Formats: sequence, structure tokens, C-alpha cells
Amino acid sequence: MRKLFYLAVSIFLLMLLTSIPWAVLSGDMAKIFGGLALNLKIARLSTKKPDQKLSGPVRSVRVKQIHDTWHAARSEGRLHQGQDIFAPRGTPVYSAVAGYVIRKGENRLGGRTVSVIGAGRRVYYYAHLDSYAPDLGVGDYVTPETVLGHVGTTGNARGTPPHLHFGVYTLTGAINPLPLLTD
Ligand SMILES: [Zn+2]
Repeated sequence: MRKLFYLAVSIFLLMLLTSIPWAVLSGDMAKIFGGLALNLKIARLSTKKPDQKLSGPVRSVRVKQIHDTWHAARSEGRLHQGQDIFAPRGTPVYSAVAGYVIRKGENRLGGRTVSVIGAGRRVYYYAHLDSYAPDLGVGDYVTPETVLGHVGTTGNARGTPPHLHFGVYTLTGAINPLPLLTD
């Protein structure tokens, strides 16, 4: 018993002295509670019907100007799971729906990307961004008035004319965003 007590005291003192584990611990707790709060908000949104009309993420481009490339052949035997919206580098990219930012980060194909979850647990994917909107963070509530980032050529769009890759994912997979887009 006594040995256990001394062990506990020395571990406590060690943590106190180094103080790093406390910072890690409290940071993790904040992350866990932040994550729980976001999950609750998403759960509330998921009971709603998915948006049937999407606001055009690049405002200067009309729907009829978008050349339909849904399921066009792409590198590595892939099919194009979205639409490409061409615009000058740096053109603002707006959220197509109201929802929450669930991912903001880089990947090999998409480059700089933002993912927003909307009603009915649909995920809206914005890729090849040149830059992110300043202050945009995971968990942020966004609407079609919110700028997510700017058109660019990051990821496998390097060397192509600047464009936004826009994807819409349901619980069972990607769907063509084009019929849902409005001006
Ligand atoms: Zn694309």
C-alpha cells in the first residue's frame, strides 16, 4: 500500500515538474469536448433532408458554362467524381450549402482541400485550392455567404488551368453535382 502511495506521489511530482503531460492532457480534453460538440451539431443537421439546390461555389461562373465531366476518365484508371469549375487563380470559392467544416488539409490528388458536411450528412468537397480563407477552421459553421478558399492548381491540378474541383458525397458514394447547381 505504502509503496503504491509513494509511486503515485512520485508520478504526480514528475508530471508537475515536467508539466508537459498536463498540457497534452488538457489539449486532448479540449479536442475531445470540441469534437463531441461538433458531432452533436452534425447529428442535428443529419436528420434534415439533403439540399436539393446548391449555390454555385464560384460565383462568376454560370451553371451552363460548366463543361460536364462527371465520370470522365482520369489518371490511374479513376473516374472523375465531381465537376471542374474553371476560373482565374485566386477567385473566391464559396460554400455551396450551410454546414460545418469537417476537414481542411492537403492530400496528393486534391492538393489544398476543404470538406463541409451539410444536411443529410452529405459532404461537399472543394479541391485544388490556391489558399484557404484566413481564420477558416474545422468545426466552423459556414453558409453560401462564406468564403472557404481560392481557386488554384494544387494537388494533381498542377500545370492545368486553375479550377475548383467540386465533389458531392452521399452516404453511399459520390453523386454528380451539376444537376443540383444553381446560379
Ligand atoms: Zn476534378
